Amino acid sequence: MAFIPKRVIFEKDALQYPLGEKLWIYFRDLGVETSFATSHNRITSIPGKTPAEGYFEGKRTMVVGVRRTLRFETCKPSAHFQLPLTTSCPGKCEYCYLLTNLGKKTYLRVYVNVEEILAVARDYIEKRKPEVTVFEGAATSDPLAVEPYTGQLGRTIEFFGSQEYARFRFVTKFTNVDSLLDVPHHGHTRFRFSVNTRQIIDQFEHATPSLTERLVAAQKVATAGFPLGFIIAPIIAEKGWQDSYRELFQTLSAGFGHVPGLTFEFITHRFTKRAKANILEVFPGTRLNLDEEARTFKFGQFGYGKYVYPDELLKEIRAEFKTMSKEYFPGAEVKYFV
Ligand code: SF4
Repeated sequence: MAFIPKRVIFEKDALQYPLGEKLWIYFRDLGVETSFATSHNRITSIPGKTPAEGYFEGKRTMVVGVRRTLRFETCKPSAHFQLPLTTSCPGKCEYCYLLTNLGKKTYLRVYVNVEEILAVARDYIEKRKPEVTVFEGAATSDPLAVEPYTGQLGRTIEFFGSQEYARFRFVTKFTNVDSLLDVPHHGHTRFRFSVNTRQIIDQFEHATPSLTERLVAAQKVATAGFPLGFIIAPIIAEKGWQDSYRELFQTLSAGFGHVPGLTFEFITHRFTKRAKANILEVFPGTRLNLDEEARTFKFGQFGYGKYVYPDELLKEIRAEFKTMSKEYFPGAEVKYFV
């Protein structure tokens, strides 16, 4: 599924970089609407009279900018630091965590100064040496969707392939992995595919590849020798969830039961007040259960509160996922359950 933006907005400074210039020529020649802005953080030209229109137009807009904040955020529990290569993605998942973080600024941003970003990563690695530093490439985006345009993920994988004291990891629902398979990774980059039950994917994960397509891509990645993982998120405990997730584990084990070093990450569904308000504006008919009464309110690491499943239900989900992962993947490591 190739993502073709409806409009591409360039920060003027981005054209000073080879990738910025290349993208400008490419989209101009393709006939895609292009324009300029002074900052990728202040884009005001995306049309849309309602929040929903603004969201959908934003998701069809690519902003090409220069990443100026080169201090990396921490990234618990999956890594030490975020590696900011892109922001947002063309997917339109109704539960997306970016509906909290980005609010109305859901437009896709790519940063052309990848070499500067990697130079900063090198400083972080040097400072923590001989400890190994882990970087997460998907904290504020799905970085694979725009890879055909930028090639940045390939460059990043190659960079980490040469770093003895660092590891790179990212999560994706996208499947255009072919250009990455031959990159010399030296086992330092872990691909994790975000998967869920077929019902959840159909209902909530709009504009993303199907489960089958994701598993085909995961197979290619495993064959190329990359460390591989699956992230099941969000785990949604609606009627019949036990059977639906068991079916998912069965499907995964048929293709990946013997992959060495496989990892799992499990994240239960949660939402913030801000996300709920945004979701209801953008997807007024959503079937996501956002009933605050049925949840427990907790403060998260970023200082805002979120509604999580009550303790009893969380315990039940945790136990069920523990049983299923042991049964279908006795050799795999469960990194965390939240
Ligand atoms: Fe959000 Fe990931 Fe879905 Fe993109 S693919 S909309 S980043 S949840």
